[in-house]
Amino acid sequence: MSFDTIPKDLRGLRACLVCSLIKTFDQFEYDGCDNCDEFLRMKNNKDNVYDHTSNNFDGLIALMSPEDSWVAKWQRIGRFTRGIYAISVSGTLPQATLREMKSRGIPYRPRDTSQR
Ligand SMILES: [Zn+2]
Repeated sequence: MSFDTIPKDLRGLRACLVCSLIKTFDQFEYDGCDNCDEFLRMKNNKDNVYDHTSNNFDGLIALMSPEDSWVAKWQRIGRFTRGIYAISVSGTLPQATLREMKSRGIPYRPRDTSQR
């Protein structure tokens, strides 16, 4: 899929590096990530939004009923909130965030599948 086919106003979108949820920068800043804000703390923190989201993502999945979606199982997003998710997200999390996730026992799987 090429981004040239997506209308310009979708280009302000960013994807969470942890769960691949797609929202606008403003939404991440005002509400944080619906799945990860407990440890990513993006709400009201622009720096954290920049650090933990990426505007370089590919593919869109509309997640409507996570519990019985095979796509959700395949993407390992079955326990996440409803929304639009990216199939692949490019970018790396800061070391401090990786450490915090580890200390909370949260497994991190890079969402970047474009290199495989
Ligand atoms: Zn997230």
